[in-house]
Amino acid sequence: MKAICFLCEKTVRLDDNSLLAKKLRNNPLKTYLCNECRERITLHTLERLAKRKEKEAPSPSSAPPTDCTSAHS
Ligand SMILES: [Zn+2]
Repeated sequence: MKAICFLCEKTVRLDDNSLLAKKLRNNPLKTYLCNECRERITLHTLERLAKRKEKEAPSPSSAPPTDCTSAHS
C-alpha cells in the first residue's frame, strides 16, 4: 500500500503485511510519518525537552528557596 508522510508529503510504499500498514488501514493516513521526519521530530522533541529541563531546573545554588521560611518567623 501507499502512505503519504503528512509532513513532507513524500509517498512511501509499505509492505501490506507490515504492522504499520495494518495500523494505517485502521487509522487515517495523516498519522503516517516517514522515517526521515520521524527521526527529525524525535531529535527536535528531545532537544526541546533537554532545553526546557535546563531552564526549569537551574543549578540549586543560583536560587535558594528562602522566601517561605522568612515569612513564618
Ligand atoms: Zn516525511
